[in-house]
Amino acid sequence: MNIDLHCHSTASDGLLKPGELVARAAANGVEVLALTDHDDLSGLAEARAEAESRGIRFVDGVEISVTWERTTVHIVGLQVDPEDPVLRSGLESVREGRARRAEKIGDALEAAGIPDGLAGARRYAENPNLISRSHFARYLAGSGRAPDMKSVFRRYLVKDKPGFVEHRWAALADAVSWIRASGGTAVVAHPGRYKLSKAEMKTFLAEFRDRGGAGIEVVTGSHSPEQYLEFAGVARELGLSASRGSDYHGKGESKADLGALPRLPDDLNPVWRDW
Ligand code: AMP
Ligand code: MN
Ligand code: MN
Ligand code: MN
Repeated sequence: MNIDLHCHSTASDGLLKPGELVARAAANGVEVLALTDHDDLSGLAEARAEAESRGIRFVDGVEISVTWERTTVHIVGLQVDPEDPVLRSGLESVREGRARRAEKIGDALEAAGIPDGLAGARRYAENPNLISRSHFARYLAGSGRAPDMKSVFRRYLVKDKPGFVEHRWAALADAVSWIRASGGTAVVAHPGRYKLSKAEMKTFLAEFRDRGGAGIEVVTGSHSPEQYLEFAGVARELGLSASRGSDYHGKGESKADLGALPRLPDDLNPVWRDW
């Protein structure tokens, strides 16, 4: 089965509308797809309708921004209920913080001699309630401040750069409990991306599991093939289930296309085993 449980639409920082994303996934041979927009559920209904019309299975998902011990981590929720009031109000609080951060990023860019950063980012954001650094990056690249997204991030949007703003996202325990309250399964997104030592990673994953977290992404567009092996080992060692997802954002912005990654190692327990 070709299963892709992580991608983004214009409801957050993806480039394709939810329906277009599903159409692309279906054309790529994906049989089970989860849409996991950052901190937002507004793309799910359109995606589900398109998946039904194309005969592929759709999974309601979300990718929640979390601060764990000063490190930003992402927790994916799979098979969540998009109508659940606990999940909805939790995500609303995250988006409020996100909106305040966007204002601050705009101010920081202005102080660095780049006016109109926030207005520019807004023009690139289809969902006005979800401004991400990707939207700032597209505006900055589009206005010639850097040749591509990667260099915009490097020059402006990461720690110690002019447009970076410290931010406190949701607490780990809260994000996991919102996902579980809505009937979903919590999965750590792209663990290989976090700047945590091996010991810190173990502490983080143990806390995640103790709070009711179930799985980690092993095969993701954000991991190298060496990291597939590394995190397969971590999943075995900690008794976590394993997930596979491209983290597709759009043409030219993602390493992996929808459904195009290798399979999970056969001995792992896939998050979808009981679905
Ligand atoms: P935010 O949640 O607003 O801080 O934005 C984070 C998003 O920016 C991630 O989900 C990625 O889509 C994107 N991103 C982060 N770092 C980079 C990078 N170095 N190059 C391109 N995109 C990035
Ligand atoms: Mn993103
Ligand atoms: Mn992520
Ligand atoms: Mn993602």
